[in-house]
Amino acid sequence: MLNIVIFGAPGSGKGTQSQKLIDKYHLTHIATGDILRAERENHTRLGELANQYMVKGQLVPDDIIIKMLEELIVHKPDNVGYIFDGFPRTSNQGEALDNMLLKKDTDITVVLSLEVDDKYLTERLIKRGEVSGRNDDTEETIKSRLQVYYRQTAPLKDYYEKQGKLVRINGVGTIDEIFGRIERVVDKINY
Ligand code: AMP
Repeated sequence: MLNIVIFGAPGSGKGTQSQKLIDKYHLTHIATGDILRAERENHTRLGELANQYMVKGQLVPDDIIIKMLEELIVHKPDNVGYIFDGFPRTSNQGEALDNMLLKKDTDITVVLSLEVDDKYLTERLIKRGEVSGRNDDTEETIKSRLQVYYRQTAPLKDYYEKQGKLVRINGVGTIDEIFGRIERVVDKINY
């Protein structure tokens, strides 16, 4: 299987590049933020609970997220692989993901870390908020999401670097330029 974690700060382009990876490599998309927003729109218990954290730019607790993931990773014979977008976001989630995949006799193939300077991130998120109306793309929430990223999520890079799975990608440029950098990495992988 080709299991990719697309990693990076909020606004680094994970969603956009995931879509291009799915089109080219036919992967199954698991985007925790999208799932939580859909749950919220449907006013499910999970959605209402998650929203209390999302509006503040905080992470939804690990146990909730991990349980949600366990229900999503179900064996489908025609599945080429997964792309994890916005997950894992903490060390606990990273370890849980490794264990979940191990149970399915597979593992993470590569972690693509989109590297984008802070000043671009804030700019991109504010612009996205104007277009998408996402209620967490406001200046104040962006600040706390970036803080959460550096404190809780970025340390995962060491975890994957130790496993020899981390590849840093320059995340500044046009969508196609960035995807070109990604393709050059993924096309070299035997899976
Ligand atoms: P995203 O669309 O990935 O930026 O996620 C939007 C919000 O959903 C985040 O700010 C968190 O509140 C929540 N969220 C998404 N994925 C996770 C995760 N893996 N762990 C905890 N919270 C998450």
